Amino acid sequence: MSLPSPLILATGNPGKVAELRALLADLSVELIPAADLDAPPEVVEDAGTLAGNAQKKARTLHAHTGQATLADDTGLEVAALGGGPGVHTARFAGPDATPADNKQRLLNEMDGVDDRRARFRTVVALIEADGTARTFEGICRGTISTAPRGTGGFGYDPLFQPEGYDQTFAEMPADAKNKISHRRRALDALHDFLADAA
Ligand code: IMP
Repeated sequence: MSLPSPLILATGNPGKVAELRALLADLSVELIPAADLDAPPEVVEDAGTLAGNAQKKARTLHAHTGQATLADDTGLEVAALGGGPGVHTARFAGPDATPADNKQRLLNEMDGVDDRRARFRTVVALIEADGTARTFEGICRGTISTAPRGTGGFGYDPLFQPEGYDQTFAEMPADAKNKISHRRRALDALHDFLADAA
């Protein structure tokens, strides 16, 4: 394949757009955030897997524009919770849950649990202009802390301590987290694929 350009980004999150721009800066790809499109369609994230949701988001925008499209979906997979909350991570404490509600539910579920192993997993879906679908995965392993620590980051960061570190993601400088994060690893895999196509 040739390098897909333009590439539509199926996310409304400015942080993710900035991260993608920085990471793909060495490739000549024009990135267009969904927010810059005329009446972008809403996507209901109701697939049963991270890959299914990422592909659904990317396919919906691809159908709207006919252009190559990227989307991602992330889940926190906790060993003692049978791999949950997984695809339900954003709504762990209910449909209108805030990040604080989700963290509290996780702490409640893990109360008294010794096995605190967990991992963040990101799946990035690329739908090429001709409709070909590809997925790229990134995993960051760690443990769930017994209490929140740190003020940086977002989501579950105060409760996630990556393997090999004494700090939670929320205690680490953003650039240190972004070097080892699940999202970074998935985007590195995407970058390698695009660089080969350039
Ligand atoms: P999304 O797929 O990026 O929307 O994320 C799904 C859920 O995982 C949301 O509840 C996010 O807050 C959470 N999440 C995703 N990435 C991270 C992260 O790097 N740190 C902490 N929480 C995250």
